[in-house]
Amino acid sequence: MDLPEYRAAVDRWLDDNAADLTPDHGRTATLDEQMAHLSLVKRRTFDAGWMRWGWPERVGGLGGSTLLRGYLGEALTARDMVEPGIYSMTEVLAPTMIDYAAPELAATMVPRLLRGDETWCQGFSEPGTGSNLASLSCRATRTDDGWLVTGQKVWTSLAQYAQRCVLLTRTGTPESAHRGITALFVDMDTPGITVRPIETMHGLDEFCEVFFDDVAVPFERTLGDEGQGWAVAMDLLPFERSTSLWHRGAYLHRRLERFLAAAPDGAVGASEVGEVFQQLYAFRARSRATQHRLADGERLGAETSIDKILLATAEQATYDLVADGLADDVLLGDDATSERWRSEVLYSRAATIYGGSAEIQRNIVARRLLDLGTDR
Ligand SMILES: Cc1cc2nc3c(=O)[nH]c(=O)nc-3n(C[C@H](O)[C@H](O)[C@H](O)COP(=O)(O)OP(=O)(O)OC[C@H]3O[C@@H](n4cnc5c(N)ncnc54)[C@H](O)[C@@H]3O)c2cc1C
Repeated sequence: MDLPEYRAAVDRWLDDNAADLTPDHGRTATLDEQMAHLSLVKRRTFDAGWMRWGWPERVGGLGGSTLLRGYLGEALTARDMVEPGIYSMTEVLAPTMIDYAAPELAATMVPRLLRGDETWCQGFSEPGTGSNLASLSCRATRTDDGWLVTGQKVWTSLAQYAQRCVLLTRTGTPESAHRGITALFVDMDTPGITVRPIETMHGLDEFCEVFFDDVAVPFERTLGDEGQGWAVAMDLLPFERSTSLWHRGAYLHRRLERFLAAAPDGAVGASEVGEVFQQLYAFRARSRATQHRLADGERLGAETSIDKILLATAEQATYDLVADGLADDVLLGDDATSERWRSEVLYSRAATIYGGSAEIQRNIVARRLLDLGTDR
């Protein structure tokens, strides 16, 4: 199926099923409610076939261009049927599973994620390791029966809902840096795992601390080879900065339009609005090119850091405008609409942190793309 045909068919189907797929946001949905609704939307779109397009047949997909799944996420987020952050975890984690898991494992697991039967999380960051990921210390020790994992992860989004985790562990010496890292695919119900949600300022406790205490992981759950974890991470991070950001950009357009439709006369100036639209379109133009490169089979890399910088800038500009325009409501309102804007305004501060901070993205652009300075 080509993109124009897919778009028209998806749009028709979403129109016909809008009543079931649109959450009833009489008030701000809790994260439990958002997750339950996300599962419903994924199940319905998977069973109708739409969620399967753009994914390889060997993992339950129907094949076709990756642009198809880019469009589905765009349509669902722009229609406010799903929240982009939780929807797009699939885009972050599934491609790397397909690239690095044993084929039978990927064939069993990926359809569960696509259909919303399971939630997965990404266990990379640690209390002492965020930007400097190569220094991570959560240890996996080789035994006769498999790996034994001990250590801690933090800021692990959706870990409290997750059945599986793509986990980076240290299997080499502490000095081995990026060469001593191994990626594992861990069942979250394995004895020895403790998950503690972290309270967030925007009211949706989406991420957690995760503790591993002698957690047994079979060797078959190694993603790639022992010591290849850095390559897995470098494969995954560009996905976190490509299709999932495309979906987020579509959502921001929609929210900006919503805000402008509701903003009191004179609440915001035309030039400020123009500036924000310009930033959103700059991101969209850049991300569109990235979606096409992905569809053409190119391997994404450091250049996706540009997409991340543009998205984070546009997201914060959008919500700065909202915060200025709806100042009293955003700060003080206790109705459902104000609550939702307040939550989103606060969450927008995270845009320059998640998926790699703004400073780190600029370092990558300077060093790897512009060849300025050194990597140290
Ligand atoms: C909403 C949200 C969801 C997240 N979800 C996940 C998840 O699911 N899984 C996961 O593993 N992680 C997740 N993270 C963690 C995220 O990846 C890290 O927060 C991020 O990489 C920054 O790492 P850090 O918090 O350790 O900050 P640090 O690395 O300690 O950085 C602190 C500050 O110093 C700056 N800095 C650090 N090093 C340099 C340098 N070399 N040059 C210039 N400036 C520098 C940073 O830009 C930042 O401003 C999430 C974070 C957020 C906010």
